Amino acid sequence: MVDHGEQQRKPQSSYDEVLGVAEHHARAWLSSVTERPIPPRLQAEEIKDRLGRELPDDGEPATEVIARLAEGTEPGMIAIGSPRFYGWVIGGTQPVALAADWLVSAWDQNTGLRKITPAAVAVEELAGEWLLDMLGLPSESEVGFTTGATLAQFTCLAAARDEVLRRAGWDVETAGLAGGPRIRFIVGEERHGTVDLAGRYLGLGSPTVVDSDEQGRIRVDALRRELAASSGPAIVLLQAGNIHSGAFDDFAEAIAIAHEADAWVHVDGAFGLWAAASPRLRHLVSGMEGADSWSTDAHKTLSVPYDCGIAIVRDGPAMHRALSMHASYLQATDVGADPHEKVPELSRRARGIPTWAVLRALGRSGIARLVEGLADAARGIADGVGALPGVEVLNDVVFTQVCLTLDDDATTAALSEHLWNEGEVLAMTSRWHDRAVVRFSVSNWGTDAAQVARTVAAVERAIGEVRTAR
Ligand SMILES: *Cc1c(COP(=O)(O)O)cnc(C)c1O
Repeated sequence: MVDHGEQQRKPQSSYDEVLGVAEHHARAWLSSVTERPIPPRLQAEEIKDRLGRELPDDGEPATEVIARLAEGTEPGMIAIGSPRFYGWVIGGTQPVALAADWLVSAWDQNTGLRKITPAAVAVEELAGEWLLDMLGLPSESEVGFTTGATLAQFTCLAAARDEVLRRAGWDVETAGLAGGPRIRFIVGEERHGTVDLAGRYLGLGSPTVVDSDEQGRIRVDALRRELAASSGPAIVLLQAGNIHSGAFDDFAEAIAIAHEADAWVHVDGAFGLWAAASPRLRHLVSGMEGADSWSTDAHKTLSVPYDCGIAIVRDGPAMHRALSMHASYLQATDVGADPHEKVPELSRRARGIPTWAVLRALGRSGIARLVEGLADAARGIADGVGALPGVEVLNDVVFTQVCLTLDDDATTAALSEHLWNEGEVLAMTSRWHDRAVVRFSVSNWGTDAAQVARTVAAVERAIGEVRTAR
């Protein structure tokens, strides 16, 4: 006889109710994102109080846990998905990407091995092929899905480290770094901070820094001098998309110079690489396809949920040497590479699937429109806010970034603080070229002309109030 009570307690039958509660709260959050104040209202310690600090001796039902979680944390959530969130280059979530991500969690495929999780591998490999095609990168390249651009850089630089040392007669994978040739790790003054981090993880030490120009582009003449000043294995790091100016390095020139010196060239294109997807903006990355590796994010421009970065390496064998492992209990593939040979992890979620979903939903032209829309919105903000008295836009607005200043540093800082307190527009202060700036990073798919108009109006209002108060 079937015991129905027993049946009810079986895990399979208990998903429905709790997923219903989660869906209810997810919908409530998503429908609030555009109009709610953007900054969090409570800080972490207050949220801990709301959730309850003690580990319970006895558990509570799953539905209650999820309701407690959603209700307890809500005031501590920042509306990163708001179309007026310009705080950092981070972007929101496309509906199709979120839906695909829910399935990724439900399917729970451990995506390390091709023979074991073929469906997940198929979707990720298609996404990888489409990305290479769309971004104009060499079709033989390997594509790995990492947690973000930091780890994508790490992944690419691990391949670079292996290969430049191998050319110098040193097998770093067996011999380690100690006693081997020193790698010259050469970067521009305005590289992203995570470049140093990736280099540090790999034992490359602090990078050698070359001057940048007024827009933050590496100076090609200075790079040439640096490469000529010494010899030995070298990795040169270039940038597509400076976080203050949006500027792009001169890839054609810099790559030619670096390759003459037998250096490996990596391009950090966390958000800027996507310029390649637009016929109108592609000129910005002209020549970058000549590099050896590229890192980017899907969780920024492409608006998939966290977390998804993308590591692309032309020399597949170098990538596999640096990242693969072997164990008798793993069922290794006999065709091509296993997913774990292209990323630092063995076990991981099938995080490339939401990327496939966005590419499928938008298509080539839709992705181009997405990227162009971000650049148009940045132009709109620069024109609208830049026309206000006393406002100066400091950068050439070539892509998605706008840096502006007011009368003096204190007034500039007061503007972003005022915007934060008001909650309708979020743009943060930074320092660029020794001045306080308010930085707008346009990276949300929902930032259209109407949102730009609302943004400009809010900034105008805030500037008026900041000046009155001072
Ligand atoms: C965001 C960003 C990174 C780091 O990416 P994560 O996804 O945060 O790891 C690296 N470089 C640039 C230019 C970025 O904008």
